[in-house]
Amino acid sequence: METKILKINPLNPEIDIIAEGAKYIRMGKLVAFPTETVYGLGANGLDEEAVKNIFTAKGRPQDNPLILHVSSIDEVKPLVKSIPKEAEILMKEFWPGPLTIIFERSSIVPDIITAGLDTVAIRMPNHPVALELIGASKVPIAAPSANTSGKPSPTLAEHVIEDLYGKIELVLDGGPTGVGLESTVLDLTGDIPTILRPGGITLEDIRHFIPNVELDLSIISSNEKIIPKSPGQKYRHYAPKAEMLVFTGEVENIVRVIKSMAKEHVRAGKRVGIMATDETENKYTEGVVISVGSRKRAGTIARNLFTTLREFDEIGVDIILSEGVEMSHIGTAIMNRLKKASGGNIIKV
Ligand code: AMP
Ligand code: MG
Repeated sequence: METKILKINPLNPEIDIIAEGAKYIRMGKLVAFPTETVYGLGANGLDEEAVKNIFTAKGRPQDNPLILHVSSIDEVKPLVKSIPKEAEILMKEFWPGPLTIIFERSSIVPDIITAGLDTVAIRMPNHPVALELIGASKVPIAAPSANTSGKPSPTLAEHVIEDLYGKIELVLDGGPTGVGLESTVLDLTGDIPTILRPGGITLEDIRHFIPNVELDLSIISSNEKIIPKSPGQKYRHYAPKAEMLVFTGEVENIVRVIKSMAKEHVRAGKRVGIMATDETENKYTEGVVISVGSRKRAGTIARNLFTTLREFDEIGVDIILSEGVEMSHIGTAIMNRLKKASGGNIIKV
């Protein structure tokens, strides 16, 4: 398959390029496009055949449901049974933005979207290209991250091309994405509003409006036996090729332990990658050291995380020793991705 790549202005998308993207979507083709979180791999969310191709192109497990993307709050109504009061409040406050809400589904949502569940995940992305593409397509767009399943999510069109060239019809290249991590997934179908996947809209942000909101136990606990409520959260995910270990605790302790482990691995002839921060990168004397950003600006760490993991892949290290961050605000989402990327190898020091 030929993959067409079109540059698009991320702030003020060219109308003819949006029209071409929308034409592809309506024809049942796959279009990768930028959102404010990561690049999405879009298909007409009401076209079962088109959606099937998303799973094939990504190699995504069939039991992992997709998020439907809309370009206005009004577009939610036909897709759901009802809109809870909490959802009304949160949509008004955080949409467009990195908050996905789980609703009871209506019958027009194809089974392949929900992986057979009776709920559907919906969000309105905060990116001009995404919003205009959905608006011009006049259908909800199903869009998981535009990467090969299991690999780090794409924050640049180059990442999409690396993973999916020849497997999808169109890439809209709008430059780097903003948040850098996928949306927060919030379930409003149970008794207690529950965050199933932490993301750009934090627990603290939501708590402001919905005081009884909680994090799913699988996010907080280190017990791998706790099964996440969100099907996608049970897989190793966002993962670099190398083995990865993540260290949490006091920063000085983290640095000390990583330094000594790096020494050991280098001595054993391994290529070691160290994912450091601006505050600590000069303290390491061995291995390939990349700073993921400043500890004072966790948002920057979120934005750089997946690119940095892909860089270690390119360099070809055998093991990545990564610093952890504090589990609050966006740090909760960063630690969730590091946990998945390392296959649960989180070590408290
Ligand atoms: P992705 O689009 O790859 O960022 O993944 C979407 C995330 O939303 C995955 O973790 C899915 O398991 C989750 N998700 C989508 N639909 C539902 C749903 N109906 N119930 C629970 N989680 C969902
Ligand atoms: Mg994904």
